[in-house]
Amino acid sequence: MQLIIVFFGGPEEYVRDGAHRKMARPDECPICGKSGGMRPHGFYSRSVTIPGPIMRLLIQIRRFLCFFCRRTTSMLPDFAQPYRLVATDTVNEYLAGSRDGAEARRWSEHLGRYQQRFEERIQETSRALTTAYDIGDLPLVATDLWGEVCRTFDGARRFTARFAGEVGMTVFGIYRCHRPTENSSKHIGNNLAHGRDPPISAPGHETESAIRKRFK
Ligand SMILES: [Zn+2]
Repeated sequence: MQLIIVFFGGPEEYVRDGAHRKMARPDECPICGKSGGMRPHGFYSRSVTIPGPIMRLLIQIRRFLCFFCRRTTSMLPDFAQPYRLVATDTVNEYLAGSRDGAEARRWSEHLGRYQQRFEERIQETSRALTTAYDIGDLPLVATDLWGEVCRTFDGARRFTARFAGEVGMTVFGIYRCHRPTENSSKHIGNNLAHGRDPPISAPGHETESAIRKRFK
């Protein structure tokens, strides 16, 4: 299971502050729902894009293990997209229709694929949003839908966190590791498999293709 956590800053602040070591442990296990059983369980590494010559930064993601159900939960800061290399703020810029920024231009190949995926899945995304949040008449043009949900959910980071955490989806796909169980969600039916956490990977080896291999 992966939770997306509000983080006021970007990847550089996260690394500089050692924020992965300060992640608060969840009171309840998001998988089995029991309280008081979450224990620190190391970290895994992944990359995220940053402006400037370094281009991408390796970050550590905190994991917790539930004493009761023995499943792990990881804590992804919201500047990073689940299973996507390009940072949320840059994805937001691109999906909102801007092609002018340095980061949007630099990562345009990746972002073009993200946009294509978004467009392929837009009907399913729209249906899921309507079912989960009771919002209808959503536009089926990708740029318009993105603008609408970002306004409704107070920004791209918050939208991604809530859609992933509460519905188990992003606009790019369904993520088994975000699928809540019947114990933890009022939005989802009770026939879904328990989520799996991403495996630990060796530092420096977390490419986008590696990230996306785990994409369901
Ligand atoms: Zn548990």
